[in-house]
Amino acid sequence: MTHLQLDEPVPGEADDGVWLTCIECGATFAPFEAVRYTCDDCDGLLEVRYADLPTFEDFDSEAPADGVWRYSAALPFEEGVSLPEGGTPLHEVPRLEDDIGVARLRVKHEGMNPTGSFKDRGMTVGVRVAEEVGVSRLACASTGNTSAALSAYGARAGLETLVLLPAGKVAAGKVAQASLHGARILEVDGNFDRCLDIVQDLADRGEAYLLNSLNPFRLEGQKTIGLEILERFEVDEGTYPDRIVLPVGNAGNTAALYKCFRELVQSGALDEDAVPKLTGVQAEQSAPMVEAIENGWDHVERWDHVETRATAIRIGNPVNAPKALPGIRETGGTAVAVSDEQITAAQRDLAEEGVGVEPASAASIAGLRKLREQGVVDADEQVVCLTTGHLLKDPDAAAEAGSEPEPVPDDTDAVLDRL
Ligand SMILES: *Cc1c(COP(=O)(O)O)cnc(C)c1O
Ligand SMILES: [Zn+2]
Repeated sequence: MTHLQLDEPVPGEADDGVWLTCIECGATFAPFEAVRYTCDDCDGLLEVRYADLPTFEDFDSEAPADGVWRYSAALPFEEGVSLPEGGTPLHEVPRLEDDIGVARLRVKHEGMNPTGSFKDRGMTVGVRVAEEVGVSRLACASTGNTSAALSAYGARAGLETLVLLPAGKVAAGKVAQASLHGARILEVDGNFDRCLDIVQDLADRGEAYLLNSLNPFRLEGQKTIGLEILERFEVDEGTYPDRIVLPVGNAGNTAALYKCFRELVQSGALDEDAVPKLTGVQAEQSAPMVEAIENGWDHVERWDHVETRATAIRIGNPVNAPKALPGIRETGGTAVAVSDEQITAAQRDLAEEGVGVEPASAASIAGLRKLREQGVVDADEQVVCLTTGHLLKDPDAAAEAGSEPEPVPDDTDAVLDRL
């Protein structure tokens, strides 16, 4: 697992032991002097690097906060614009565990964050960096949850927020959040990938600070999902999970979890052999990452036409693929595509355990079930599935997947007759 090593001298640009490194050419940059999302030299993705990497003990010392900022030793700041976020439950789902047939199944429900998705973990750090570099307008392209999170954190920080959404393709709850938190919402007559092209253009012209997961600081906050899973699972089970299964859209979370593991290996806190296998799940008609993994490519081919009812992962050009593909490969994981029917069935399965998620989130369970049936996942594995967003994000999908309300007369006997 050579990619799990991060040996690198502290470059001259390091600011308080933090700097940015291009993952393609290795160029290094000061972190907060200028607004920069990709490498000046080769346009490659940037990664935040630290002179000192923490071990688990560093998170226990009189942490000022729960959740994301408990892990400030692994982050570029001590605290941020917080609502607060993180500290989400790791649910037991015994019937589903039995039914799918793995030794242990836990569900990390990221829908329990303040705006109902894991995007809050990235925004608490990203908006803190926006304050540091001194920008006035925040912007993102979004399939919905990024815009909900950015609107809330932007409002909290008192900054202007602009969101670009693919017209007619965003779930109702998410638009409502962006709207009430006061974002300027522009609906683009195009898909998510086109929205992101446009926001990147705006950012390049200095018109807005980009807070999509192309922004390397977002991923720093999202690393804390991995830290919480490892810590909690170890307390409960005395070991680390063999595998983490997650839905993949722009592959930011996949990249963030991989970075989390690499940093722990580097600091000596985690054995290389104990790194969970990162396993990505996409919808069949939006699956460029699965295609790249199956073909052994080191890049993804952009899909121009994507479709799925899991609108949060309706993405044809996953921008973090260059970070996420090595993550899946180096940890011994894989990627799998599931149908919309399988996603809806998994959404119902989770709901029967009391866990309410939006469709994209259920893809993790659907993917695990498929891989178990195929024998790719073994019966003795201990698995954590990530559910990324809350049921109420997409009330229409939930109502369609659930049972119909039945009209009755306003009379007790008539109601009893029905039962
Ligand atoms: C953003 C999002 C995803 C995709 O996450 P990536 O990090 O872009 O792969 C999946 N599910 C939900 C609910 C999301 O909001
Ligand atoms: Zn470069």
